[in-house]
Amino acid sequence: MSKKLYLSAAAHKHDNPTQCPQKCGENVHCKAYMDLVEARMKELGVQVKRGYPDLVGNAAMKQRVAEANAWGADLYYVAHTNAGGGRYSLTLCWSDETSKQKAAVLGKYRTCIQPHKVRTRTDLYEIRATKMTCLYDELFFHDNTEDCRWFHNGGMEQMAEQTVQALCELLDVTYIPKGVSGAAALYRVQVGAYAKKENATAMMARLKSAGFDAFIV
Ligand SMILES: [Zn+2]
Repeated sequence: MSKKLYLSAAAHKHDNPTQCPQKCGENVHCKAYMDLVEARMKELGVQVKRGYPDLVGNAAMKQRVAEANAWGADLYYVAHTNAGGGRYSLTLCWSDETSKQKAAVLGKYRTCIQPHKVRTRTDLYEIRATKMTCLYDELFFHDNTEDCRWFHNGGMEQMAEQTVQALCELLDVTYIPKGVSGAAALYRVQVGAYAKKENATAMMARLKSAGFDAFIV
């Protein structure tokens, strides 16, 4: 059974203005970031649900959490960006040790922006109402011009890929770097190598009669 990942990108009722180099918003760049995470996790064989792209605010959160709980997601991952003048990356989670350890895994891979902090929050709806672990990222501070510029000049791609590495560890899924074909990770089993074709054909017949799918190369 492949793992189930629920993704929830910021969907504020009134999108927060940012200091991004182009016309943007917290909802806008979190969606773009989540699109990258979604595509890569699907590529790596994980079942992914996003849910309710047209809803915003409390309605979006309620629908998403209800869907994730009914689906039985293994992990619920939220991406927002922060405001208030800091310069760090932050993952919020429930107060149990397991959640804190899982949140720290995001920081372990997030070398593209430092430092990374873990804080517990029990008041946020998506953390409180999800039955599975919820990791709630505040990726960077969107009121910081320099970090906004960094995010929109390759930082987003870098961060998404590092998050994918962390999610793979959390879901116990093999991480394959971007651009490396899945075939490169295939391990082929060989049974014998023969100088005479009839010996090879005989071995293939034996394997097939034993129920294995065999072919001669
Ligand atoms: Zn932006």
